Amino acid sequence: MSTTTIEIDNAAYTGSISVHTGLFIDNKWVDPVEPDTADVVNPATGKKIAAISVGSKKDVDIAVKAAQKAYKTSWGHKTPGRERGKLLLRLADLLERDIDAFAALESLNAGKPFSIAKTQDMPGTIAHIRYYGGWADKVHGKTIESSEVKLAYTRHEPYGVVGQIIPWNFPMLMLAWKVGPALATGNTIVMKVSEMTPLSALKFCELVVEAGFPPGVFNLVNGYGTTVGQAISEHMHITKVAFTGSTLVGRKILEASAKTNLKVVTLELGGKSPTVIFDDCNLDQTLKWTTHAMFANMGQSCIAGTRIFIQEGIYDEFIQKFTAIVKGLGQATGDPFDSNTQHGPQVSQTQFDRIMGYIASGKESGATVHIGGERHGTEGYFIQPTIFTDVTPDMKIVREEIFGPVAAVMKFKTEEEVIEAANATDYGLSAYVFSENVGRAIRVAHAFESGSTFVNSGQLVEAGMPFGGYKSSGVGREHGEYALATYTQVKAVHVNIGLLI
Ligand code: NAD
Repeated sequence: MSTTTIEIDNAAYTGSISVHTGLFIDNKWVDPVEPDTADVVNPATGKKIAAISVGSKKDVDIAVKAAQKAYKTSWGHKTPGRERGKLLLRLADLLERDIDAFAALESLNAGKPFSIAKTQDMPGTIAHIRYYGGWADKVHGKTIESSEVKLAYTRHEPYGVVGQIIPWNFPMLMLAWKVGPALATGNTIVMKVSEMTPLSALKFCELVVEAGFPPGVFNLVNGYGTTVGQAISEHMHITKVAFTGSTLVGRKILEASAKTNLKVVTLELGGKSPTVIFDDCNLDQTLKWTTHAMFANMGQSCIAGTRIFIQEGIYDEFIQKFTAIVKGLGQATGDPFDSNTQHGPQVSQTQFDRIMGYIASGKESGATVHIGGERHGTEGYFIQPTIFTDVTPDMKIVREEIFGPVAAVMKFKTEEEVIEAANATDYGLSAYVFSENVGRAIRVAHAFESGSTFVNSGQLVEAGMPFGGYKSSGVGREHGEYALATYTQVKAVHVNIGLLI
């Protein structure tokens, strides 16, 4: 079982971080049954950072066995909620202790500006684990009024072994969104993170041991989607799968469930979220939030506000000021460890090529590149923050999720017209509205066909508020009390307290 030592030496972080590169099963580091590795690349340079082990179906089988054993012998009903909660709270404390190292790994492997990884991604991760630590002893069933000869009640029981498959855009946040509610409710986990961004999750496994979780409660099998991911989604002893990723793969997970054991599937998928800006908005605030909603995490956010609708009365002024802000973001593009950097690289060559392909398609279809539209620099996967104007609803850049720093801006006249245009998409993850007219802002927020709506703000997701999609953006909800329901199944218990036959 190998370990790799990563040296980071710059103003933001100096030190060496050791990362085990094997599979983490039963609280031990193991090699895959059929040894294989994948290179992990620094997206700011395109250079290899490390090679990690990648598993196969055989390793998933081993991990599921470990998770089943843990569920029966040391977790599930064997560890009371208050004890599970204590472990989660300890885990959150350990993450907080090591926040700099985790932020450095996120920055190195996913290209996030270090300052943002440290002040947003990691605090969000820690808050999430802590939040569910608090829930672990508060998951109750109900007693149900029946008759004087019956005691009728429900229990909210865990599924057992759950599979979790996550993407690369927020490696630690996505992991926390999955781990928190699953462990709080007593499930054990076989997780697969993205093969592109595994480093922070590998480091996380060390804290699972240090916090005191019993062996087999959390297992990490790194590997590719078509091998490890598919094996998880088809496994007969995994009774629930939680997936975050593209709508395309989400459909495959549902199909795998239908063809195997009808496992419960929750899906957090893609988006093409609208930002609707009325003439009567607070312009300065709206400019800041719109920029955040669109360009945070280099546009690699499922809730990015990528279709920006501006009411005609402020269109020209808004575009002029928005362009100046986006130009500033372009100037703050570069080394993620530089404290002035606000905009880093895209995660991979594949994503870079995909986004540049969309930019080319926008140009070909007659849209105008208002700003950006080119590669930034000569190494790594940097793309200039980009705004397209003169777009029409049929263009690919308006219809499809780009998952990069590319905004499509449109003008509108009336509230009715913009609601229709905002909802004219197969997606329904999130939506943003800006107006100082309270009635209008709330009316529009309610009219959006989306799982979340933000009024006069950007991407302000939080642990206590449900998160998930309408339409093709997903099935089920994460976060808050709502997530607990997706990690438990309800058992009805009928107790005869009177009748004798
Ligand atoms: P992806 O669907 O390609 O991959 C997601 C994960 O699924 C990865 O771990 C991948 O290895 C795995 N996978 C790939 N093929 C698989 C298969 N056949 N069976 C099982 N697993 C498989 O998505 P991505 O490119 O990693 O991430 C970007 C997408 O994720 C975007 O569409 C984005 O909107 C979405 N996303 C959604 C949310 C949300 O909460 N709704 C959050 C983040 C990202």
